[in-house]
Amino acid sequence: MNIILFGPNGSGKGTQGSLLKEKYQLAHIETGGIFRENIGKGTELGKKAKEYMDRGDLVPDEITIPMVLETLKAHAQDGWLLDGFPRNPAQAEKLWEALQKSDMKLDYVVEILLSRKTAKERIMGRRICAQDPNHPNNIFIEAIKPQGEACRVCGGALSARSDDQNEQAIDKRHNIYYDEKSGTLASAYFFKDLAAQGKTKYIELDGAGNIAEVKEKLLAELK
Ligand code: AMP
Repeated sequence: MNIILFGPNGSGKGTQGSLLKEKYQLAHIETGGIFRENIGKGTELGKKAKEYMDRGDLVPDEITIPMVLETLKAHAQDGWLLDGFPRNPAQAEKLWEALQKSDMKLDYVVEILLSRKTAKERIMGRRICAQDPNHPNNIFIEAIKPQGEACRVCGGALSARSDDQNEQAIDKRHNIYYDEKSGTLASAYFFKDLAAQGKTKYIELDGAGNIAEVKEKLLAELK
């Protein structure tokens, strides 16, 4: 099973991706993760990618596309979940070309739908419980609103992660994601058009519910 997963920052893409990976035993090919790993190891690729990542810009296609195609080749015999790629139409086209050349099937393209406003509130409203980081608290989501200033589950102290409060960085990432002409959504729609021609299956998943609800919908669609 080969899947591409799209979703804005704040949509629960990471959570749903883990679910898909577990269920189908997929190799998780996450471009941001590959770049971070290379930065950690101090490789040439990592050095090149870092300056772009630090600014919140996309790493140039000349670096990103060959890196992803190489990784896909290495996993040609496994099922894979592609996460964080493509992010523009050129990447989408190159990917499709490479899949066809190597006879790899693209079973599903999953797009998690979430409004930009909700995605931003999910990130900026998130509060972390000092007792247990898994306790859900968000000052903008009614169902998981903290109790006053404290964790709604255990009454523990809450804090906000500093990167969740960097509104400029969040906006920059969302500008790239929600750009339907030349950004990530444009690349998702490239596959939506292919699905209309019967060349892959495109699943639009309403990301507005809680984790369990979205998960249930996703599994129902994949049957
Ligand atoms: P992520 O963890 O997916 O948010 O990716 C972190 C950073 O890695 C991004 O902000 C980009 O700088 C870079 N990156 C990840 N995927 C891509 C891609 N498909 N094209 C270009 N840059 C990417």
